Amino acid sequence: MRAVGLDEPFFVRRGRGAYLEDAEGNHYLDWVLSWGPLLFGHADRETVDAVRAAAADGTSFGAPTEREVELAAEIVAAVPSVEQVRLVSSGTEAAMSAVRLARAATRRDRVLKFAGCYHGHADGLLVDAGSGIATLGIPATPGVPTAVAADTLVSPFNDLDMTAEAVAAYGEGLACILVEPVAGNMGVVPPEPGFLEGLRRLCDASGALLVFDEVISGFRVARGGAQERYGVLPDLTILGKIIGGGLPLAAFGGRTDLMSLLAPAGDVYQAGTLSGNPLATAAGLAVLHRLRDGAVYDELERTGARLESGLRDAAAGRPVSVQRVGAMVTLFFRAGGVRDFTEASACDTERYGALFRHLLAAGIYVAPSQFEALFVSLAHDDAAVDRTVEAVASFFEAVA
Ligand SMILES: *Cc1c(COP(=O)(O)O)cnc(C)c1O
Repeated sequence: MRAVGLDEPFFVRRGRGAYLEDAEGNHYLDWVLSWGPLLFGHADRETVDAVRAAAADGTSFGAPTEREVELAAEIVAAVPSVEQVRLVSSGTEAAMSAVRLARAATRRDRVLKFAGCYHGHADGLLVDAGSGIATLGIPATPGVPTAVAADTLVSPFNDLDMTAEAVAAYGEGLACILVEPVAGNMGVVPPEPGFLEGLRRLCDASGALLVFDEVISGFRVARGGAQERYGVLPDLTILGKIIGGGLPLAAFGGRTDLMSLLAPAGDVYQAGTLSGNPLATAAGLAVLHRLRDGAVYDELERTGARLESGLRDAAAGRPVSVQRVGAMVTLFFRAGGVRDFTEASACDTERYGALFRHLLAAGIYVAPSQFEALFVSLAHDDAAVDRTVEAVASFFEAVA
């Protein structure tokens, strides 16, 4: 909240659909939606019923349940490159484990990531990270050993030439290129045409694995995530957020030959007491089984496009850019678009803070950071979009 000029966060009492109520009884239209997981909005009836029914039968077993297998099958059916999948409890854990697996499979140590991309808070992945790291302006996190950070290379997003140079210099030691195929943690930055294809070629030529972090984009920009939308297949995929339906669940998966290196089939160790938790798998299934219907993505695309064009009109003539991929949208306070973290960092965050406060006063909650997205859900109707667009228009009118 300090990033947008406020002292205190509000405390949430409850949520329903696209709306939140705080501890003082104020209501907000919510575009944050827990930072992306809630594709059907808060307190979605089917999800709540599924969790309630699951809880009545026990909340954790530390032994396999059928729903784990069902959820895994649902993910494998949806995500083009995923043949096998391992369930974990957070995106951080999934990213950490996928990197370990990539290192084991290649017997190499280095990881190449992109400035402004966020992959959870595992030590080696916090270098030049987006999300809260970018919001708070923390360049390097105390507590991360220098030796660990030394194995992380950072390249500018959307810059294939710089990335190729890094791979040429370090390719022999490079275990993987790790990327958010649609960047969401520096605000929404789409991959430029050819960028993801180029990363695929660099990996093939160097023997590094391509790892897509689809924690946000998975089941959001298409059912099969960015890899379906852009037609580029990674070796490993990291998932989270939507697949847990708002409960703690994430996953990583990929080709069978890679996944079979994991213990107990192989000797790359990974485990978790609450992995594949019965409440979380119930919530995940309650969401994913409704996403088989392509109409869901048509609707998200339509609502997202309405929001995008409304915001663009509202900000016409201002030094502002609106960027969208499917159901994720960011209004950047910078003219001429944002293609990497340097450009995102050049945004006028003071003005963003002013917009945030204007919207909050109008009962509309957007991310308290320029470096995040508006998360469109199936709970956001046209009226919610139009109300938001009007409030943004009144902000720009007020500041002339
Ligand atoms: C949210 C996020 C993560 C981390 O997931 P957690 O469940 O918060 O640990 C990793 N990668 C991306 C792209 C994310 O947006």
